[in-house]
Amino acid sequence: MNLNIYKNKLEDEKKLLVEELGTLGKVDKTGDWEATPDTDIVAQDVSDEADMSERAEDYEERSMKLNSLESRLSDINKALENIGAESYGFCENCKKEIEEDRLEANPAALTCKECMEKVF
Ligand SMILES: [Zn+2]
Repeated sequence: MNLNIYKNKLEDEKKLLVEELGTLGKVDKTGDWEATPDTDIVAQDVSDEADMSERAEDYEERSMKLNSLESRLSDINKALENIGAESYGFCENCKKEIEEDRLEANPAALTCKECMEKVF
């Protein structure tokens, strides 16, 4: 298995994720991402309640998107850690080697195909 291929893929994806996360929120002191309100909207005056609820909805949407990006990022970080610890490519659940075509499709995969079906 050529680890460098996966490492490069993971690092490329990480870069994109961090960029996208940066448009939605910011990292707090504990290293968690937090959604920030859209700056364009914040700059406007709050005129009525409809505006307010629209803003809350927008924030909710950003939070949801941010959370899913953040969980993807944590998978990627974990996979990168595993590469460093030379335990990359082994299923977290059954400890068998993860199929290469599964890693090909998702370099951040932490489980083999069989376990993926069991877990999800
Ligand atoms: Zn497994």
